Amino acid sequence: MTRTLALVQWTLRPDRDDDAPPLTHRFRCLTLTDDDSECGAVSEPHTDPVDAQAWTFRHLRDHPEHTSYAEVIERPWVMWRGGRA
Ligand SMILES: [Zn+2]
Repeated sequence: MTRTLALVQWTLRPDRDDDAPPLTHRFRCLTLTDDDSECGAVSEPHTDPVDAQAWTFRHLRDHPEHTSYAEVIERPWVMWRGGRA
């Protein structure tokens, strides 16, 4: 995506540089509790999605009624000056 702001052209792109933060996966528990609020428990971020998925089984073991989850993927992006005209 490219936009021109104050006569400076900026481009937004996924950050795949060697020093970019890693893409990470987490899981969050979506199960509603007795007061209809979300459990909200969240795994640590992992670069391997299988490691993040393993957290859901540990959470289910401790909370057998918690069966609904969302995967949260964090992908680094970066703005840089220039790009295609
Ligand atoms: Zn939960």
